[in-house]
Amino acid sequence: MTAAQPAAPFSLAGRKALVTGANAGIGQAIAVALAAAGASVTCAGRRASDETVAAIAAAGGSAGSLILDFADPMAARDTFAGAGYTILVNNAGIIRRADSADFTEADWDAVMDTNLKALFFTAQAFGRELFARDEGGSIVNIASLLSFQGGIRVPSYTAAKHGVAGVTKILANEWAAKNINVNAIAPGYIATANTEALREDTARNTAILERIPAGRWGDPQDIAGTAVFLASPAARYIHGAVIPVDGGWLAR
Ligand code: NAP
Repeated sequence: MTAAQPAAPFSLAGRKALVTGANAGIGQAIAVALAAAGASVTCAGRRASDETVAAIAAAGGSAGSLILDFADPMAARDTFAGAGYTILVNNAGIIRRADSADFTEADWDAVMDTNLKALFFTAQAFGRELFARDEGGSIVNIASLLSFQGGIRVPSYTAAKHGVAGVTKILANEWAAKNINVNAIAPGYIATANTEALREDTARNTAILERIPAGRWGDPQDIAGTAVFLASPAARYIHGAVIPVDGGWLAR
């Protein structure tokens, strides 16, 4: 006997989601898309996500804003208890660029804390709450092409994003049997604040565009649908995947 298909496989109606770094860029697009799919969305970040909350409300959705600064990687330790979340999108991230020979300990620690340590301990706090309620849920981590490749002049970012892929897999191994789907999206080159320096460097911009089969930079909205899918019942048998959404970059 096969398991019943969910009645609305791509719907997030009745679900409560928390998206980190939702005030701008990819996190903002994901928050808007989760709300459009029916979730009630908390937009968490180191400053208020007023623009995102207003966009969701204007579209008839439900959203709120929460201040969490992941410079403290344990910032979300008390966020989930009794709050009813079943979707977590770990999106907040920073990047620091310098030649590896010149890279500072401060730039190493800042990126590792925000992009990897905070991601793990936020997932841990979310998972513990689901265990306490004996409920399933979905975690979508935002990885990177630099979860697979080395990159240039971004050593702590590359180390952290390789770590995000590893953490996604270990949490999937431990939590899949508890009906918690842990997966990641590896965005390609997306036009946000994170990549402004690359787009302003004419030589790097040209080289990047030449390698993208789709022939253009990605837009934050290009990532959002995959996040909705991974949080939805349609993805219930996907565990530990790191899915590239990259205009074909990794196929080259
Ligand atoms: P972005 O516009 O700079 O967004 C980063 C988000 O993270 C912002 O909301 C930012 O808040 C938040 N954030 C940074 N430090 C934080 C902290 N200490 N506490 C709480 N929130 C913090 O860049 P993005 O491209 O959308 O990046 C989103 C994610 O996608 C990141 O994990 C990034 O590594 C990943 N990614 C991006 C690309 C790309 O091409 N753009 C490719 C692969 C992966 P503030 O506005 O306050 O800084």
